[in-house]
Amino acid sequence: MPFCQRCQKQWSWRQTFKRSFTLDPAIPCPYCHNKQYVTKKTKQKMSFLPFIPILGLVLNMFNIHPVIVLSYMFVSAAIIICLSPLMIKLANEEQHLI
Ligand SMILES: [Zn+2]
Repeated sequence: MPFCQRCQKQWSWRQTFKRSFTLDPAIPCPYCHNKQYVTKKTKQKMSFLPFIPILGLVLNMFNIHPVIVLSYMFVSAAIIICLSPLMIKLANEEQHLI
């Protein structure tokens, strides 16, 4: 779980999860209310995650039953959504990918 880089307090899964669904790159810390940003490394790691459920479309080409393919896509997406707060690391400054 991420630590605020200003007050060093660890965010809970729920706090991180709720704050990760924002379009604003600045995420306020639930404790000190200072702005925190997801690190460049976290953004890079997380950019690959949507491809895991999409791999189900590749499975679909191998004559695997559609129920199994859809189950794989749904379960893998749910696992990624649940585990993504564990991967987040925070920084005090915004770090752009490019
Ligand atoms: Zn803080």
